[in-house]
Amino acid sequence: MEQIRHLVTELPGPKARQLMERQQAAVAHGVSTLMPTFAVRAQDGIVEDVDGNRLIDLAAGIAVTSVGASAPKVVEAVQQQVSEFTHTCFMVTPYEGYVAVAEKLAEITPVAGPVRSALFNSGAEAVENAVKIARSFTGKQAVAAFDHAYHGRTSLTMSLTAKSMPYKHSFGPFAPEVYRVPGSYPFRDQLDGHQAAARAIEQLELHIGADNLAAVIMEPIQGEGGFIVPAPGFLKEIVQWCRENGVVFIADEVQTGFARTGRWFASEYEEVEPDIITTAKGIAGGMPLSAVTGRAEIMDAAHPGGLGGTYGGNPVACAAALGSMETIEERSLNQAALGIEKLVRTRLEAAQESDPRIGDIRGRGAMLAFELVDPETKSADAALTSAVATAARSAGVITLTCGSYGNVIRLLPPLTISDELLTEGLTVILEALADA
Ligand SMILES: *Cc1c(COP(=O)(O)O)cnc(C)c1O
Repeated sequence: MEQIRHLVTELPGPKARQLMERQQAAVAHGVSTLMPTFAVRAQDGIVEDVDGNRLIDLAAGIAVTSVGASAPKVVEAVQQQVSEFTHTCFMVTPYEGYVAVAEKLAEITPVAGPVRSALFNSGAEAVENAVKIARSFTGKQAVAAFDHAYHGRTSLTMSLTAKSMPYKHSFGPFAPEVYRVPGSYPFRDQLDGHQAAARAIEQLELHIGADNLAAVIMEPIQGEGGFIVPAPGFLKEIVQWCRENGVVFIADEVQTGFARTGRWFASEYEEVEPDIITTAKGIAGGMPLSAVTGRAEIMDAAHPGGLGGTYGGNPVACAAALGSMETIEERSLNQAALGIEKLVRTRLEAAQESDPRIGDIRGRGAMLAFELVDPETKSADAALTSAVATAARSAGVITLTCGSYGNVIRLLPPLTISDELLTEGLTVILEALADA
């Protein structure tokens, strides 16, 4: 597929308009869609729509298709597996693919000692199960999550998620024994890692107490909350406190995992070894799969039959995961993510020099973002952010926003995007900012 942005109609084009009408009539309005068009095929940095427009992909389906949306190894593995069998249920008649994925996870996750994994379908399901396992192991119930956290949309995970609109509003009551503590947001709290950790630990001790606390869950870089990288040392002190107090530390690497940040997992940058790591999104090249990987003694605390699900670790998804992980290694995609970081940072930093509305540039590898603010007060400018994203989308660049204050433009390109497409995508976004 030609890796060039090319618009042959306005967006939405005539075929997309017809589909939008059908969507309005048939699809629940609680499921909203960002791009004013519909996809028909995708490869590396390009998504092609129903009207023949080629769009630059700076989203990778929210950090999912890191290896590209039709990576040859993934496509071949899926086709091969589908032709053999689609499902037996691992809990009924097990198969090798599930075991092979667990073995590979043991090899690449930064969890110390003997490691076990359990496979599920979505990120939220992985987080739910990580909490179940931590409770079973510790015999305690409370779970602590941070300000700006995002852990999913099911009952328990939406309780762990911080932001009310749109994730929690009108959907309560929420799960009990979930507590929130302040994290580390260097651009806004001006605290160093030690100060931020001391503030969090004081609240953990005051409001919950280690004797009641089963787990602390944290994204090593907060995703939906705004691509917030904690101040250096913050994570290490939190993990240390958990170790000393018999609290399970869960790193939610659903968005940061699988080469997205230039390492297999973002925890590696912080030099910490989580007790449990939850993964999903980038794990299987677009197929629905998630995993809970943790220290064997913790994972095996859950009794036989206590974990599972009809589809968890589906054989087609497992085949895709193996193909995807092989692609990451063969194509050196950790290296590619660092190349993307260099290109994007250079470009954004140059733009920031002449535009003080770019308040902060942050992230790691191919998980980068900038925060748009009022230059005088640093207050969040959500209206500007939304205008820039909408203009970029109309111009054929798939652009995402995030942040508790709705003022962050985030970039999550496939790691296989060409420098030319990435540069052009950035140009479109920065021109939209200049015009806004
Ligand atoms: C997306 C996400 C989830 C939820 O994953 P789903 O597959 O959408 O359920 C959980 N945690 C983090 C950090 C995420 O980014």
